[in-house]
Amino acid sequence: MKIEHVAVTALRLPPASPWEDATNKVQSLEFLIVELHAEGGLCGTGFTYTVDVGGTAMKSLLEDYLAGLVVGMDARDYERIWNRLQRQSRRLGLGAATMAIAAVDIAVWDLIGKHYGQPLWRLLGGAREEIPSYVSEVNLAAADRVEDLAARVDDYLARGYRTVKIKIGRDDFEEDLERLGAVKKRLGRRGAILVDLNQKWEASEGLAKAAELDRFDLGWIEEPFLWSDIAAHAALRRAVRTPLALGESLYARHQVLDYLRADAVDFVQADVCFVGGITEWLKIAHLAQAFGKRVAPHFMMELSLQLLCGIQNAFMLEDVVGGSFTELGLLAEPIAVKDGIGRPPSRPGHGIVFDKAALKSRELKPEQVRAGFSGGSK
Ligand SMILES: [Mg+2]
Repeated sequence: MKIEHVAVTALRLPPASPWEDATNKVQSLEFLIVELHAEGGLCGTGFTYTVDVGGTAMKSLLEDYLAGLVVGMDARDYERIWNRLQRQSRRLGLGAATMAIAAVDIAVWDLIGKHYGQPLWRLLGGAREEIPSYVSEVNLAAADRVEDLAARVDDYLARGYRTVKIKIGRDDFEEDLERLGAVKKRLGRRGAILVDLNQKWEASEGLAKAAELDRFDLGWIEEPFLWSDIAAHAALRRAVRTPLALGESLYARHQVLDYLRADAVDFVQADVCFVGGITEWLKIAHLAQAFGKRVAPHFMMELSLQLLCGIQNAFMLEDVVGGSFTELGLLAEPIAVKDGIGRPPSRPGHGIVFDKAALKSRELKPEQVRAGFSGGSK
């Protein structure tokens, strides 16, 4: 199944609802879509994304350098393809390079699924046919009131979700506690709360604040500290009862291994697009399993759904409000979580079918980025 031709499209569009967390106010999501055309007429579709910055750089990396390397290779040889791309781009480090590689790798796996006529979740192990999902909101804007949050939680419950993730990390910690109190009152014993700090806390203040969160019986605290401070995360895990989740800011299996060895994480959240695609993500999931940890991948709902149904140590699917391909209006065949449960489509490959007209209307235009980008990092 030789790869004959590669096509790359870049998109830039705002989330379907405004996003603001403790450390960033998001302007746009940027997606790169890669099509691998193989002999015999099969086409595999891959994708990756970034938040606000780097889409044009990744498009160039894919079009000018990586695409040519995979033409002529057999799409079934996913290890050989991944290693070729990784070795060739190693001087670029982790991040934009692994994110670009992911788009090719995901397209390769889509081709493999189509070649064998099997859905991805079954190729990856077929551990289950559905997975519980949690709703994940990105709404910490100063204008967001406790009553607004409570009303949204009522809506999530009505739609069948039983686990809700909210952003915390206001400058006034009392406001965080007030918001959590309101959510706890709404959920009662019907569901669980997860909180995400997006690396807001300083290590010196984190232990005392996290200890106060124990009384809410949270499902986890996510990314309390700077992503690279393994010691701070390990210390927090030892000090509080609430489990710890992280991994969306890690870009390779060895970074995850460092956290596992330090006993500094409970739930591994590696993002399939940030770590270089399905080939590397699977290794991370299996690594976590060896340490007795479950995985709950970051974002990318429609693809994470396939991954979680493939592997044994799956925890939950993240459904970010305003962030799925389905909610962004990019799919010809929507894939939605229903009654808090995600079920992957049975189509061969990953089953994610883009709406070509929608992609065209969201095309990234570099001149518009240059004219309008101001950044939302706090
Ligand atoms: Mg997060």
